[in-house]
Formats: sequence, structure tokens, C-alpha cells
Amino acid sequence: MTEKIGVYVCHCGSNIAGVVDVEDVAKWAAEKLGRQGVIVARDYKFMCSSLGQELIEKDIKELGLTRVVVAACSPHLHEKTFRIAAQNAGLNPYLVELASIREQVSWVHTDKAVATAKSKAVVSGAVSRVIENTPLEEIKVPINPNTLVVGGGIAGIQSALEIANAGFHVYLVEREPSIGGHMAQFDKTFPTLDCSACILTPRMVEAGTHPNITLLTWSEVVNVAGYVGNFNVTIKKKARFINEELCTGCGICQEKCPKKVIDDVYEAGLGYRKAVYTPFAQAVPNYPVMDKENCTYFEKGTCKACEKFCPTNAIDFNQQDQLLNVEVGNIILATGYDLFDARRVSNYGYGRLPNVFTSLEFERLSNAAGPTTGNIVLRDGKTVPKSVGIIHCVGSRDRNFNNYCSVICCMQGLKFAHLVHERTGATVYNFYIDMRTAYKAYDEFYQRVLEEGTLFVRGKVAEVTDAARYSNEKGKLIIQTEDTLAGKQRRIPVDMVILSSGLQPRHDAKEVGKMFGISCSTDGWFTEKHPKLDPVATMTEGIYIVGCAQGPKDIPSSVAQGAAASARVLDKILQKEVALEPVKATVNKEMCSGCRICNGLCPFNAIAFLADDNVSEINPALCQGCGTCVAACPAGAISGTGFSNEQIIAQIDGLLMRNLEPVEA
Ligand code: SF4
Ligand code: SF4
Repeated sequence: MTEKIGVYVCHCGSNIAGVVDVEDVAKWAAEKLGRQGVIVARDYKFMCSSLGQELIEKDIKELGLTRVVVAACSPHLHEKTFRIAAQNAGLNPYLVELASIREQVSWVHTDKAVATAKSKAVVSGAVSRVIENTPLEEIKVPINPNTLVVGGGIAGIQSALEIANAGFHVYLVEREPSIGGHMAQFDKTFPTLDCSACILTPRMVEAGTHPNITLLTWSEVVNVAGYVGNFNVTIKKKARFINEELCTGCGICQEKCPKKVIDDVYEAGLGYRKAVYTPFAQAVPNYPVMDKENCTYFEKGTCKACEKFCPTNAIDFNQQDQLLNVEVGNIILATGYDLFDARRVSNYGYGRLPNVFTSLEFERLSNAAGPTTGNIVLRDGKTVPKSVGIIHCVGSRDRNFNNYCSVICCMQGLKFAHLVHERTGATVYNFYIDMRTAYKAYDEFYQRVLEEGTLFVRGKVAEVTDAARYSNEKGKLIIQTEDTLAGKQRRIPVDMVILSSGLQPRHDAKEVGKMFGISCSTDGWFTEKHPKLDPVATMTEGIYIVGCAQGPKDIPSSVAQGAAASARVLDKILQKEVALEPVKATVNKEMCSGCRICNGLCPFNAIAFLADDNVSEINPALCQGCGTCVAACPAGAISGTGFSNEQIIAQIDGLLMRNLEPVEA
């Protein structure tokens, strides 16, 4: 059958038309590609507009088009738009092909003649290819209404509550003994100076008591199988050595436990806990966990003070780790961030100079529930500083460490300045590269801190040292810095230095990403499906990323992302099934030699090896059609629907203008 093909060339305002002679491309397609079945070719200002789409729909209906080529932007942006237009007019959406003459032509060329000739070649390739396209049907997959949320910080809590409040079940998994995340460690939140615990703990309690939430703390996901709608997740519930059914959270075990341990996690190394402990007073759940590494009984076989005094016999030294299997339809990853290790900037002296503190240490120092009950003092535990230097951008916007801006450090530095000023009356210096106070009420907070008398020095700090050169520097920490506004180098002696450390991806983000079949950016954050238009989805259908797992952000943005991902999940749950792209790879079992080369290559873990038959098999619900395995299979046993050899060869023939007269450049 001879196809009837319509070619539509978009101006994209001046984006394409500024560099490509679009009228000429359309005219050329109508004249030169007629032999291949092109019966109509038009150009239009904005093909993606409703009028542009109507133009295509009208031609499909009135001219009986059997194939459509749209020469416009990248398929990544508008392929769906034109496929829907074709479908509305009764044409199978997979009989539409996009020719990228914006990203691949007008944006990378300046010579109009060359760009126009190249556009013709790209259109010719798309026409040859669309002839080989076959109608495809979307794959419908039922959705299990349960959801897994990994990470119990504020973003994960928000996600879980939104879904649970809508009436659907959530498994909320947290690797620490309590939910709350970093926010539970803070004293105040910027710019409103709300007490962090006061605004967080009601949410924690709600999540902990919600009938639709199964809270699994001290637990980790160890395996993920399946695909959107039907994930099978294995969770390791680590032994707490406490019988949760019997424990009342009375705290007697912690009181009686003789073993004191430095709390490196919640107290950032500034405070102590017991070997059996709850990380903080408002922990959810409120029953303790036993730290096996430090428990005297596990070390020496004696003690058992906790068991002796527990009024409900809840201590269980024989408890074992448990593996739980849960089935869920969608997964939200809210795994958070790690704080940049300030030791890496050795010239700032953290770990060497006692009165250099990290931001997290300062959070605990200034917290009324912290090790100094909120008193801001030096490392000796009693001296109130008279002067404090706060250094911004530690580990961020620095080619030696992380290039990116950590978003929160400027505001964090301003908050610290306010708290130091309010509680000690000390002279406060903030050392910044640029002041970034972009969101609601942030700049007003900066003004407030300025008015309070904080001194600001713009420039990169070179060094923090205790080597005094002048009498006023003796016994002090000296901040050696450039002052770009004054145009000179300065040495400023202070009693205390606070490093406003940046955020970085979790140390295990790569492994976690691999387990869930999602990728990480070059900086190490989980990669979103689209940085602007789809920031909480990932390339793996059914897996979402929220909060700092996706990139540095503040609390309001984390909460907003948690809610956004929940809306996406609820949308899927309410539809009861999801339609998946039919562009997939398939293995020809007759040709598969069982070499397994493809098995480890699939970035979406879509390929399984069937040992009994000695062949590989691709799960169509997991396959994203990336084509990696197709290219890698030495036996040529894998083909990609929508990317068959015939289609690719036809496109190359078209691009090279075979069967056509040579094009004038
Ligand atoms: S003493 Fe027993 S009941 Fe009380 S918190 Fe400890 S384990 Fe729970
Ligand atoms: S095309 Fe192959 S490698 Fe790519 S997602 Fe599908 S199965 Fe995995």
C-alpha cells in the first residue's frame, strides 16, 4: 500500500525560522518526497499550538493521511502532543514521527543555507522511517494501591501523610530508629524562626499513629523487583532487641543502662546516649533500640541491667533481623542528603582547631534539647564566645569539592548569626561569596540580621588558623580572608568559627539508585525525568524522588515535592491502571545464545535470565526502550519495537538522500 504522508514544518517562532528557511523545507518535501508518499507539506508558526494540532487533525481526516512527520523540536518535548493529535483524528499515534530540526539543526547552526539543507535531510530521514513504523498499542498495567515511601524525613513524612489521608496504605521505611530526619536535629527554622520540633513533631505523631501507615523504622530496603503497579520489595527490619508489642516506652532501660556512648548521629558527636536508647525525646516510634556494638552484654556476656529493670519484660536479646516482603504499586524515594564533611577543607581547621564547629554541631549547641541545653559555648562547655565568624559555602560552589550551590547555606548562616547575636550578644561576622536569599521572606530576614548588627564580609575565606601574628590575635582563631568590597586581605580574630557546610548526595546514593533502577546526575543526586517539567518523576515509571534526594533544597520545597509526588501516585492509584509506552526491547529466544552479556547492562534491571531455557527475557513493564541491550547483544537476538533494523536503515537512507537527486547546499 502506498502511504499518504503529511509533513508539518514548525517555525517555533524564530527559534527554528530564524536559522532555517522553513517555507523552503516544506516546499521541498512536497516536491521531492512525493514519490515516497508525501501528499501534503505545510509550515506553521507554532505546530504545538492548538491551531497547529488542529491543522494536522484536519488533514488526517480530510486527506486520509496514514503517516505524519512533524519537523519541530526534540521528541522529548512534543512527541506526546502530536501523537495525541493523531490519535484524536483516528490515526495510531505511533505512526507519527518527529524530525528534530530545532535541537539538532537551528540551535547548532548559524549558516541558513547549511541549516536548511540539513533540515531537508532530517525530514527525509523521518519520512523514510515513518513508512516502516507499525501501529503499536500501549501496555496497560494494573496498579497495586499500596505505596512505599523510603525515608522518614519531612519530605517522606509529607508524602506518606498525603497518600494515607486519601485512604490508601503506605509503608514508610526509615533506616534510623525514629522518623524526623535532619529537621528533628534543628533548633529553629529560617526565616520564620519557628521551633523546628514544634512544627515537625505533630506530623511525626500523625504519621506514627495513622491507620493507613505501616511505620518500619530501623529498617532498610534490600531488594526491589517488579515494575510500576507491581513492585515486590524486600525490607530488612533490623533487630531492636526490644519486643515492640510489650514495650511501653517508659525509658527505664535507658536510665538503668550503665553504658554511655558518644552520640555521633543525633547529637553530632557533642552529646551522649546510652547503649539502649531512643535518639530524642519526641522520637516516633518511642520505643528504644539497642546498639549491639556498644552493649556490654553483647560485648562481655554480662550486664542485662535493662532486662532486669524493664517492667514489661520487653528486652529480647535473642531478637533477629527480619526480612519482610511488601507489594506496592508506586515508590517514593525521600532518602535525603549527607552533610558535607568539613574536614575535607583542611585549611578551615575543623577537627584540628577545637572551636571550629560544623553547622550541625551548632544546631545541637543552640537547641534547648541539645547537649548544652541551648547555651552557645566553646568546646570547653562553658565559655561564651565574644566574637563568632560564620563561613558560608563550605564545600559548595567550590571546584575542589562540589560545584553546585547547596541552596540552604546562606540562610542557615543568617539564622546562626541571629541566634548567636540573640543569645550571646557576641560580635558576629558572616563571610559569604554571594548572598542567596531567593525565596519568600528570605531577603527580609537578611535585612533583619543586618539591622541586628551582624557584620558581612564578601569574599572567599582562605584559612582559619590559631597562629597569631599580632597581640590581639593571641588565643583566638584568625579568619584570613579576601574582602572583595574593601579590595583588601583581612585577618579577623574570633573566638568561635561556624562552618555553614553544604549538602551532598547520600554516600550510598549510587547503590540505592541501582537497586531502584534510577540514575544519578554527575553531582550524584537522583536524576528527575525532566528538570523543569517533571521534577519528581524518574525515568523509571512508578518511582518518584522528593526532597534532598533530588537535589539540595529547603524545608518548604521538600514539603512541596513530597505533596507533588503523592499527587502523582494518587493519580495512578485512582486510575487503577497505567498505560506504558509500547516502545520496548524483545529477545528472540531462538537466536539468544544465553551469553548473558545483556543482563548486567540494562539500567532498569529489566532483563532476567531463564536458567532452565538458557535464554534472557525482558520484562516489558520494566523496559524503557533505551536500546542498550539491542546494541550489546552479540547474537543480534534483541530487537527494539519502534527501533527495528528496517526503521533505522530506512532513516539512514533517508538522511543520506538515497533515491533522491543530490541537494544543493
Ligand atoms: S524499660 Fe522496657 S518498656 Fe521501658 S522503654 Fe525499655 S524496653 Fe520499653
Ligand atoms: S532496551 Fe534493553 S537495556 Fe534498555 S531498558 Fe529495555 S531491556 Fe533494558
